[in-house]
Amino acid sequence: MFDVFTDGFRSIANKIRFSDDEKALDKALDELKKILLKNDVYHKATKELITQVQTQTKAKGIGKQSFMEALQDSLTKLLSTGGNQGFTFSSKPPTNILMVGLQGSGKTTTTAKLANYLKGKNKKVLLVPCDLQRMAAVEQLRQLAKQIEVEFFESSKTSPQEVAKEALAYVQNKLYDVVLFDTAGRLAIDEGLMNELKEIKEIVKPHETFYVADSLSGQEGVRNAELFNQKIGIDGVILSKFDSDSKGGIALSIAYQLGISLRFIGSGEKVADLDIFLPERVVSRLMGAGDIASLAEKTAGVFSEKETKDIAKKIKKGKFGFEDFLSQIENVKKLGNLGNLVGMIPGLGGMAGALKNVDLDNSVEIKNIRAMVNSMTKKERENPEILNGSRRKRIALGCGLEVADINRIIKQFDNASKMAKKLSSKGGMQDLMGMMQQMRGRGFPR
Ligand code: GDP
Ligand code: MG
Repeated sequence: MFDVFTDGFRSIANKIRFSDDEKALDKALDELKKILLKNDVYHKATKELITQVQTQTKAKGIGKQSFMEALQDSLTKLLSTGGNQGFTFSSKPPTNILMVGLQGSGKTTTTAKLANYLKGKNKKVLLVPCDLQRMAAVEQLRQLAKQIEVEFFESSKTSPQEVAKEALAYVQNKLYDVVLFDTAGRLAIDEGLMNELKEIKEIVKPHETFYVADSLSGQEGVRNAELFNQKIGIDGVILSKFDSDSKGGIALSIAYQLGISLRFIGSGEKVADLDIFLPERVVSRLMGAGDIASLAEKTAGVFSEKETKDIAKKIKKGKFGFEDFLSQIENVKKLGNLGNLVGMIPGLGGMAGALKNVDLDNSVEIKNIRAMVNSMTKKERENPEILNGSRRKRIALGCGLEVADINRIIKQFDNASKMAKKLSSKGGMQDLMGMMQQMRGRGFPR
């Protein structure tokens, strides 16, 4: 997600080779400035950050280490506003959240993404459609709710204010953890919209109001957020369409500019494409140290403890079959953009770009595997080792692949099973780390 910065920071720091080399520090600061500005970090934020890094590095004694530390501290400061971070719950449930923003900014999609995120944390969520501008908007939210299996509030009312009131009455004593109110936007800010939102806000009295900003809208988006904040008050920002923004600097400076924290980043059209934005964790990623905490949280929402144990058992016994493989692929899909995921693993950040566009839904290889598995008997799926020559021929005919394809897939599967078995044994993880180090030593991209 922030590869340009991560890679840039590392190479800049490497230029400070000797201690007390002021010239090298000046050069590094100059390059740092360039990289920040080039990638759309707001100029005032950039200036302030550079000054801080310079002062702190000099105070601690110029060197690569002190430079990196100063950069880390300054970035953390830049991203922190003192307000709430991530998703916070009200002391008395349900936590009501009002979603606002311009039309097309991604509000409805983001509302569903947030619901999906909360569902992964075992929260009971209700989606309330308060966008009655277009009937299609209600239908869009209804469909998304169905897709992620989250409750949707059906209302017969004809004004968003009434829908909100009705929903509030409905949730009384219903044990919902979170109620998300999706609202209408306009193409530009106008009085009508602001008044409508103000009224809805007064009715809902939300725990927090989230402003959804399209990352492509750049500085204009920030100004609009400012206007929304003046008129109705916002407590958090969610950046959408981060996948289409190749630069990404807006994520580093929007909190600084608004004095309101960035809570989440949406980076794709799918409901799983939402990542929590926590300053310490993001800085860890920016400094090339990955973000294992977010990775663990993300996977915990998708892989249940029981399922993980069952799979681990199967792997250990060498009983991990093709059905298991496909169902695990389905799970991985729920984790969203693969590039983001890999970017969270320390040392693998550089591979994120390559995986950004891997689409598990449309991958030819996975389609082939699916076709192959469909042509297999239940027994074959569970016991890949019985797949002899004649069985392979029959399967190839059945799914329209060549026997050579079948052989290759089975071989890959076999290798992967062996590797998984090895990893699941004691010290397996150490083997993996050793392997990764070797790969890096051989110039594997990082
Ligand atoms: P709303 O008018 O603010 O409710 O916006 P929508 O949620 O309807 O989104 C507008 C368009 O942006 C839709 O086509 C979404 O699929 C798309 N969209 C929303 N979020 C993202 C995102 O993070 N990445 C990408 N690529 N598209 C997005
Ligand atoms: Mg909408």
